[in-house]
Amino acid sequence: MISVRCPHCHVGLKVDEGKLPPGIQSFKCPKCKKAIPISLVFANKSAASGSSETTLIQPLKTSMGTLTVLPDENTREQIFPLYEGVTLIGRQSAASNATISIVTADKSMSREHIRIEVKKEAKGGYKHYLSDNNSKNHTLYNSSFLEKGEVVVLNNNDEIIIGRTVLRFNE
Ligand SMILES: [Zn+2]
Repeated sequence: MISVRCPHCHVGLKVDEGKLPPGIQSFKCPKCKKAIPISLVFANKSAASGSSETTLIQPLKTSMGTLTVLPDENTREQIFPLYEGVTLIGRQSAASNATISIVTADKSMSREHIRIEVKKEAKGGYKHYLSDNNSKNHTLYNSSFLEKGEVVVLNNNDEIIIGRTVLRFNE
């Protein structure tokens, strides 16, 4: 038996690892009924140590990030959830094809200013890749301009400035 804590309701559970099917990625919490993400890591200890085979269960981060537009004189606060796949982000306009349209008076923000691609990792979590979408005024990422074609992996609390507007990424 192994101990697991539900990331949703924080109940402590005892799990019989022998009953978990191979390749399982989540199971339902008996208390709150939400899915508990897991990855099974098998470690075969040598027979000499006297230990039996042990299984480690590590909860994975399964949610995708959010993008918060910080309020200023041109823009009110806006919060956008990110989804798997490619998202174009820019200033709201009739001529925009952006998936996330920011309502703003900041004309130095392009209509399709940045691109964030959310990809699922083999072990189950998500990674967020930011790049500038050939914008006129470029993109500042944590105070450095992104080069043409440069792609960065976003981390919690990263700051992105498009035009004069500040965005914050949160995991
Ligand atoms: Zn639970």
